[in-house]
Amino acid sequence: MTELLFRDDPALDWCEARVVGVSSAGVVLDRTVFYPAGGGQPGDTGTLDAAIVHDTVRGEDGTVLHLCEGELPGIGETVTATLDWDRRFAHMRMHTALHLLSVAIPLPVSGGAIGAGKSRLDFDMPEAPEDRDAIERALNEMIAADHPVTEEWITDDDLAANPGLVKTMSVQPPKGQGRVRLVRIGDIDLQPCGGTHVASTAGIGPVRLGKIEKKGRQNRRVSLHFA
Ligand SMILES: [Zn+2]
Repeated sequence: MTELLFRDDPALDWCEARVVGVSSAGVVLDRTVFYPAGGGQPGDTGTLDAAIVHDTVRGEDGTVLHLCEGELPGIGETVTATLDWDRRFAHMRMHTALHLLSVAIPLPVSGGAIGAGKSRLDFDMPEAPEDRDAIERALNEMIAADHPVTEEWITDDDLAANPGLVKTMSVQPPKGQGRVRLVRIGDIDLQPCGGTHVASTAGIGPVRLGKIEKKGRQNRRVSLHFA
């Protein structure tokens, strides 16, 4: 297992770590600040000493694989793992904003993707929203209200007993570890999530709604940008 330092402190932008595996698939460290792609959030980029990390993915058995180019470190070496922080921080802001989008549009979510400049959620939304300005206004009001973003944990059994907590039909929370992480935003949102978020909603900054596109009979894709 790789120790996931971003879980306890998503604001960490570097760490020292020991190399415990090197293969054509990537470099495995005993601990990392790099978020592996998942839940709609892209894998982090950055450096491990001289090696460039161009993507990060989940490996087997709870490991994190750093996909590298350049001079790879050797097993047993200690390296400095440094994030491309501007990109990751944009992901954290966007990720938190998408939680708020699911509050502003209280419909089931069927998919989503986070980018540093643009993100989207797909909703089970047969009819186009009547007042898109009201949605954008509601989003920016929730952001400006500076709600704290905190985490708590519940057991798999408690989650199974409260299926209403899961808004995203396409991304089931990771189960089988006995407990699931919930992300709470003030008193307005609570849902299972393993991603990285800003500490309070004002950290997102102003946003604007982009296109609302029809995707199939039932779905609409709502894009979000930084203002
Ligand atoms: Zn999240």
